[in-house]
Amino acid sequence: MTQQVYIGLGSNLQHPLQQLQRAVDRIRQIPQTTLVAVSPFYGSTAVGPGEQPDYVNAAALLETRLQPHALLDQLQAIEREQGRARGPQQWVARTLDLDVLLFDNKQIETERLQIPHPRMTERNFVLQPLLDLNPDLALPDGRRVQDLMAMLDHQGLWPL
Ligand code: ATP
Ligand code: CA
Ligand code: CA
Repeated sequence: MTQQVYIGLGSNLQHPLQQLQRAVDRIRQIPQTTLVAVSPFYGSTAVGPGEQPDYVNAAALLETRLQPHALLDQLQAIEREQGRARGPQQWVARTLDLDVLLFDNKQIETERLQIPHPRMTERNFVLQPLLDLNPDLALPDGRRVQDLMAMLDHQGLWPL
């Protein structure tokens, strides 16, 4: 059975635009998985601790036969290939960040994987590219991405 999965992509180090393009090419090679569509790319102001370079963000729609944790393994391998350093601190500058945003209508709560991504509803740089991919997209609880985006301001986000 194929499942529809939305991924969030982000980078703010070492030529972020190229990092995202390279990641898209690598995502095409994930086994049992088809890359269906990639959103436009956006620039965004970093949020989180301290000063950081701006991000490039996008979203992608995949169809996969992989189970959620197996897909996360694949995405984390791509992060490592592109030089992602994982320290103890979250929300620091990085060459590549690949988050699983939505996995069909699944709701998952494990230590390694929470789906829907718990912070996606507060992030314009996540919701806007999702809307570009699918204006009718809704979360498993029925909330529409369009309505969630309407509650956020558009500050710190610009099309590239
Ligand atoms: P945020 O999750 O707020 O976007 P981040 O992307 O910077 O922050 P990371 O350091 O990349 O966070 O990831 C920390 C851990 O989050 C990962 O080791 C992974 O196991 C876990 N995780 C939980 N849910 C997800 C998900 N839906 N997609 C990707 N990673 C997830
Ligand atoms: Ca993230
Ligand atoms: Ca992440």
